[in-house]
Amino acid sequence: MTTIGILGAGQLGRMLALAGYPLGMRFRFLDPASDSPASLLAEHVASTYTDNAALEQFARGLDVVTYEFENIPVEAACHLEDLVLVYPAPVALQKAQDRFEEKSFLCELGIPTPRFTIDLKGKPIDGIGFPALLKTRRLGYDGKGQSVVHSQTDLDDELKNTNTNELILEEFIPFDRELSIIGVRNRAGEMKFYPLVENHHREGILRLSLVTGAVSPQLQSQAEAYSGNVMVALNYVGVLVIEFFEKDGRLLANEMAPRVHNSGHWTIEGAVTSQFENHIRAVTNSPLGSTDPVGACAMINLVGSLPDVESILKIEGAHLHLYDKAPRPKRKIGHVTFVEKDVETLQRKLDLLKEIVDV
Ligand code: AMP
Repeated sequence: MTTIGILGAGQLGRMLALAGYPLGMRFRFLDPASDSPASLLAEHVASTYTDNAALEQFARGLDVVTYEFENIPVEAACHLEDLVLVYPAPVALQKAQDRFEEKSFLCELGIPTPRFTIDLKGKPIDGIGFPALLKTRRLGYDGKGQSVVHSQTDLDDELKNTNTNELILEEFIPFDRELSIIGVRNRAGEMKFYPLVENHHREGILRLSLVTGAVSPQLQSQAEAYSGNVMVALNYVGVLVIEFFEKDGRLLANEMAPRVHNSGHWTIEGAVTSQFENHIRAVTNSPLGSTDPVGACAMINLVGSLPDVESILKIEGAHLHLYDKAPRPKRKIGHVTFVEKDVETLQRKLDLLKEIVDV
């Protein structure tokens, strides 16, 4: 029996365990919250990530450690690395935790990004122009920690009373679409990619992901090349997601996640092998499963409050996932996936769901 330790016990950890049990894996979680979504499924060490004694207790008897949350302190992952195999390696966390480090790293690999600067005192801000996005370098997610600035005065106002060392200014991209590539690399260096996912956000939060074949082969191979370059450069093991803006047929990388990702939830029912199973396969030195889609797919997040569950289940083909989380504004508490034989049928199902869920 292989026992996998997972740092973080949210819905991503829960879905990792649900994918790993049929493969005969066992799981242990570490998360500060005692009532997190994965804690009912497996052994759970309730501790902060900075308590070395708790990390040592967590690591005892584990075969491998992975994470479902990218804001794990890098020191915690490094400390665990002295005790047990850790995948992806902590360097991936380090790159992904700071938007400046992350974008600089992507640029070094020749992957285009929106223009960015951390030199916020330079006037005028070179080449970026207005509107622009001011973001916290660390700990921002789901649009948190970011604001649009429309002029130098706006920017000066935002910079008053803030520590500019912690901010990054980015060019605003009036993108045509948002897309993400889900790549996976195993310990032997084998790589596979899912089809590009089209993502729709509202209030900075992912609401809808679509995989309907509406992406050109050129864009797909471009995204795969970028993702492959990142994974090889980091000697990466596991699932890695890169989010892009598509503008005039070009891809600009916005950010990367060194973990399974919300835009990959459709793969549970919509691909031959889910992102969760492939992550487990990758970190346990197993061959990867096929990433082929099995139909036209849509994944809709349930955000904030629980809609009428019975009405959702009445829609034929609705796959409902609830995360056992208390409803709270802007909180992701579940999702629904449809996998249909064609885009027209998929659209009909989405229309039915939109009568129940605010997409
Ligand atoms: P982030 O926290 O960077 O993932 O941003 C959340 C969402 O804000 C993205 O999914 C986009 O919809 C939007 N966004 C972020 N950065 C930019 C940008 N540079 N230009 C235009 N929209 C952006």
